[in-house]
Amino acid sequence: MKKILVFTSGGDAPGMNAAIRAVVRMACLQNIQVVGAIGGYAGILNQKFQALNLRDAANIIQRGGTILKTGRCLEFLKPEGRQKAALVLQQENIDGIVCIGGDGSFRGAQLLAAEHGYKIIGVPGTIDNDIFGSEDSIGFDTAVNTALEAIDRIRDTAASHDRLFIVEVMGRNSGFIASHVGLAGGAEDIFTPDGHSTVDKAIQRIQEASKKGKTSSILITAEGQKPGRAYDLADSIRKKSGLDAKVCILGHQQRGGSPTAHDRILASRMGASAVHALLQGKSNIMIGTRGNELIEVPFDIATQTHKKSPLSYVDLALQLAT
Ligand code: ADP
Repeated sequence: MKKILVFTSGGDAPGMNAAIRAVVRMACLQNIQVVGAIGGYAGILNQKFQALNLRDAANIIQRGGTILKTGRCLEFLKPEGRQKAALVLQQENIDGIVCIGGDGSFRGAQLLAAEHGYKIIGVPGTIDNDIFGSEDSIGFDTAVNTALEAIDRIRDTAASHDRLFIVEVMGRNSGFIASHVGLAGGAEDIFTPDGHSTVDKAIQRIQEASKKGKTSSILITAEGQKPGRAYDLADSIRKKSGLDAKVCILGHQQRGGSPTAHDRILASRMGASAVHALLQGKSNIMIGTRGNELIEVPFDIATQTHKKSPLSYVDLALQLAT
């Protein structure tokens, strides 16, 4: 293994830079050359490469976003696109690849490995934490803490005005951020794609809590397919109960910011481990976690199954927020 490629793909996540740094530094320590593709799979297709030396990874461990840029690339979804990418990689003399991204990016990586024989290791970087086979992903902890900080502020104003708030967090079809910040932020109800919360049950809970002296409440919802679900919930609650709910959509701020210590450590360990895996001749796997251990998860497993968010967190949050 003489030269490896690293790139970030799909949605950005805080800690991706720490993972890039770990790949670059660990590879340099082993006398392996590193290049980065700028902008995910599109960067490969457009031959936008940048040599990455020891000092290129300086001063990035604490930075959110990704210095290699990221993006989505429709051309790569087609076999012809991947064929073109394989030719480019051949011209660049790439022996191994580290792909930092989500399950979509790993689907692409899996096909590139299967169709063209490239050795590819995945490093899970997504705030949604929705990749099956790994308990954790880079960026999730930071996003949860960012959302939680906002929710704590909202609670101050909710309590001062005796208000009901509905806070929408990111995660598309994933309820991980919602279930975690819901439990950590003391939410009165949590709507996740995997959960069983309904508007009727939420109204009942708010009204019962009100009889016990509670004057303000916060409901958390995952965004679902598109942002704005919180407005629909507020409308339903208003129509069914007359309760006025203020809506706050946290949006893209959850993607940015300096990664937490947890995410920097995770990214450092995963990035280094990806280089070691390539050196051992491994391919078609993602570096994941089970407990505090790093594990190797075949792309087949990581990309085929939906990972459900923990309903036990939602149940406990509801029990405690009485
Ligand atoms: P994420 O990696 O965060 O899940 P996406 O699902 O948008 O993000 O995937 C990122 C990119 O990976 C896509 O724009 C595309 O280039 C590539 N990709 C995703 N799914 C596939 C697939 N089934 N086949 C080939 N490439 C894919």
